[in-house]
Amino acid sequence: MTSQTVDTFFLDQFTQRFDFKDREDIVFATDQHVFLFNTRSGATQSITKVAYASEVNQILVAKDGTIWVATRIGLLKISLSKGTEQWISLLNEKTGILRIHEDSRGRLWLGTIMKGVLIYEPETGHLNIVNQTKGLSNNMVVSLLEDNDGVIWAGTFIGISMISPEGEVIGKVFKENGLVDNECNRWSQLKLADGRLVFGSNKGLSFIDPQGYKKQIQEGARPQIYLTGLNNQAADQSSAPIDLFQKFKQNEPIVLPASSRNLELSFALSDYSAPEGSTFAYQIEGYSHDWNYIGSQRKLNLNALPAGNYKILLKGADRWGQWSETPVVIPVTVEEFFYNRWWFYLLCALPFGAFFLMWQQRQRGERTRLEREVQNRTAIIKKQADKLQEVDQMKSRLYTNITHEFRTPLTVISGLADMIEQPANAKNLIKNNSQSLLRLVNQMLDLAKLESGHMKLEPMHADVVPYIQYLIEAIQSLAASKEIKLVFTKEVNQLAMDFDEKKLESIVFNLLSNAIKFTPKNGQVILQLREANGQLQLRVTDNGIGISPDKLPYIFERFYQIDDSSTRKGEGTGIGLTLTKELVELIGGEITVQSPGPQGVGSEFLVALPITHKAPLSLPGITPKSAAQPAKHIEQLTGELEENNLLPPADLPLLLLIEDNADVATYIKACLQNRYTVEWAENGATGIEKALEIIPDIIISDVMMPEKDGYEVCETL
Ligand code: ADP
Repeated sequence: MTSQTVDTFFLDQFTQRFDFKDREDIVFATDQHVFLFNTRSGATQSITKVAYASEVNQILVAKDGTIWVATRIGLLKISLSKGTEQWISLLNEKTGILRIHEDSRGRLWLGTIMKGVLIYEPETGHLNIVNQTKGLSNNMVVSLLEDNDGVIWAGTFIGISMISPEGEVIGKVFKENGLVDNECNRWSQLKLADGRLVFGSNKGLSFIDPQGYKKQIQEGARPQIYLTGLNNQAADQSSAPIDLFQKFKQNEPIVLPASSRNLELSFALSDYSAPEGSTFAYQIEGYSHDWNYIGSQRKLNLNALPAGNYKILLKGADRWGQWSETPVVIPVTVEEFFYNRWWFYLLCALPFGAFFLMWQQRQRGERTRLEREVQNRTAIIKKQADKLQEVDQMKSRLYTNITHEFRTPLTVISGLADMIEQPANAKNLIKNNSQSLLRLVNQMLDLAKLESGHMKLEPMHADVVPYIQYLIEAIQSLAASKEIKLVFTKEVNQLAMDFDEKKLESIVFNLLSNAIKFTPKNGQVILQLREANGQLQLRVTDNGIGISPDKLPYIFERFYQIDDSSTRKGEGTGIGLTLTKELVELIGGEITVQSPGPQGVGSEFLVALPITHKAPLSLPGITPKSAAQPAKHIEQLTGELEENNLLPPADLPLLLLIEDNADVATYIKACLQNRYTVEWAENGATGIEKALEIIPDIIISDVMMPEKDGYEVCETL
């Protein structure tokens, strides 16, 4: 050899392994670092940062440029493009790697020290272990070669194993098959161009023709696997195992009770020549798809089998890696523990269900009871309310009846007092007292009528100013008797509008009499009349005792009196303002009160009534002047009678008086006897009979009477 034929590179390092990265660069490793050597420039550079202190068994530059370093302490991955170095965690311990092979799928096949072959997928990190349990001839894997079919041939310390791309040991070659020796040497491997594989050993080289060998396997008889024993044992092993083998038939499932779900299976291969070299595997079909490899052991204990129906499959491979053609199939049915059965759940749920139903029923019962209770109480309350209403109505009826009964005798007393001549002061006393009593009775009756909604408006259209003036005059004497100045001011001299004279009289009379009543001697009461905002406004002002602001809201209440003591000054019943307010509201008006305080500063009542023009015009001359005093009609009538010339009895017109009260009848008769021939009927029925009999010129009838009332009398006649 001449010097031109040898290129020498001085690396200055103890070079253990190397590989070509590309045509120019060599990757080589020492026991500390991995270096990159450029053959052109001669430059060397370390590509690892951290020293590892280990023997390097192989360097492999993968197709994607990744540098894989197999060391005694594991697998180092170096990426030059990313500038990273990383120790790959394989079996979570320092797995010594002797050999790396990259297959056509980019997977790394790693021959390990005593851990068999590891198939590692760099992309996913997935690891598949092929070891003696799985049928590998030996776990010390020193060489790896891939044949043209993609089958990996793994040289070990005991024979060579063929591993399918799926990771299954499909064949084994030993000295008996023609190897020069069972023990292969480390790294001593070569694939020839014709596809033959060469493995080196201490005794020499073995040349293997993979195709020929595979053909031989295919043609050779496959072993048969047999079940040789089947026992069932209780979980607590309290009793002796039950032998199921005799009864076992392939098609009938073995039924295991939940309490003893352990099976012990024994099996064997048809080839007994080298039982230690055989491999067995089982699968629980219907539970998992994976085969579980158990090496050469010919007994399998399956404990705590899950409940359900499935099949246990068994297969075996002989010493040469030949797998049995058909597996042993053992159908199994494992019963569920009672506490996992549906009926147990149902049983457990029953008390809860029953409790829930009971609870629900109780709730429903309670609800019904409460509803009934509410109904009962409502009925009681309604009964009480009805009773109260009944009592209230009775009281109102009684109140109305009694007051009504007061009126008739009062009318008689008041009327007859006029006829008494002497003594004059006694006559006046009787008259005044009976009239004030009568006024009170009328007020009470009016209020009852208003509250029951029976009070009707009887408006007429006339000038209201002179009427108010007239009312003032009528009460002047009362003011004078108390030495109070009563002033009337008006902003308009005439105001034509609709008004109900009786109601207006009552309103004005109540306000003025109150003002006079609660104003001391020498005081002043003013009534102002004005027209504003389409309203007739009547303002009654006094400088009397006033009303304290806290009492103001109550003064319109029925029977309310600010001073309700028995020693109070001023008479009254507390219904005057109630009636006034009701009347004002009936007319469609409004009443308000103001009183700055009780210290003699007085009170001010303002009544605003709407001005309307709908009522019929009042006939001239009959603007009422008599309304101020309720008994005035009779008084006037009596007066007129006295003044007129008397006619002889025979020429007098015939008057029929229908009146059930004998006293009233006598009184009216007494009033009229000089002007009329008076016939009397004591009730409506006799009144009608009498009227038809005597055909009177005029009839005066009471309204409320026994048998037939005044309305019926009018209707019939
Ligand atoms: P009474 O019949 O007691 O006058 P009213 O309903 O007319 O009943 O009045 C109720 C109460 O309002 C009176 O008792 C009185 O205390 C108070 N009141 C009414 N008008 C005046 C007023 N002009 N000045 C002071 N107090 C008044």
